[in-house]
Amino acid sequence: MLSCDECIKYAEKKYICPHCETILSCCHVPPFHVGDGLGWGTEIFYVCLNDECKLFVNGWKSIENLYGHVGSYRYMLLPGSKKGEAMMVAGHQAFKGSEVDIEEMKATNKRHQKEKEAVAQLDSCVADKNLEPVMFLILDEQATLGDREKAIKLLKDLNDLSCIDPIRNHSFLKADMAHMVNMALLDLLKANFKKECPHCSEIIKLQAKFCKHCQQKL
Ligand SMILES: [Zn+2]
Ligand SMILES: [Zn+2]
Repeated sequence: MLSCDECIKYAEKKYICPHCETILSCCHVPPFHVGDGLGWGTEIFYVCLNDECKLFVNGWKSIENLYGHVGSYRYMLLPGSKKGEAMMVAGHQAFKGSEVDIEEMKATNKRHQKEKEAVAQLDSCVADKNLEPVMFLILDEQATLGDREKAIKLLKDLNDLSCIDPIRNHSFLKADMAHMVNMALLDLLKANFKKECPHCSEIIKLQAKFCKHCQQKL
């Protein structure tokens, strides 16, 4: 299988259909079903999606003559191979809409890289007083659950109250994650003899009777 970087590199390449001179579309391969035999061995491939392509226009007749059913051919090329081949398709719509979005692919790749870096920094972040990787994982809803939990547990040891605002401003998709984070913040505040004002959410002294921010009685 191709790595993300390889996929992006391939997706940026341009190839021409030998039947119609149109630039081939780079598409995601269709989902692989168990029982189909071999998979595609790749995540992306190139295909000519031009409906005026000679191969496609003439394909209907040859498939009807050869197999007696409805279908045609699209020119397709696998990444890394020099020669493409005719691939049977059932209709006009086949593979349309599965074109690779390179920008989206790059963004996903970047997020993966950042996640990997953040996870690698977890073991040393307390010694380095580095809150950043912990915050990245806690606030990234797509990060692995186990890594996010590990990051939450480090909040108390990091003892950095600047983590509170961004966490309070984040909506957690999972209720148990929200609960876990909330408990960790309460622990952190308590360890610093602080609490959040229930009226205005500002951080105040644990023993305060009045909030110095909103003047409300506690
Ligand atoms: Zn073509
Ligand atoms: Zn207040």
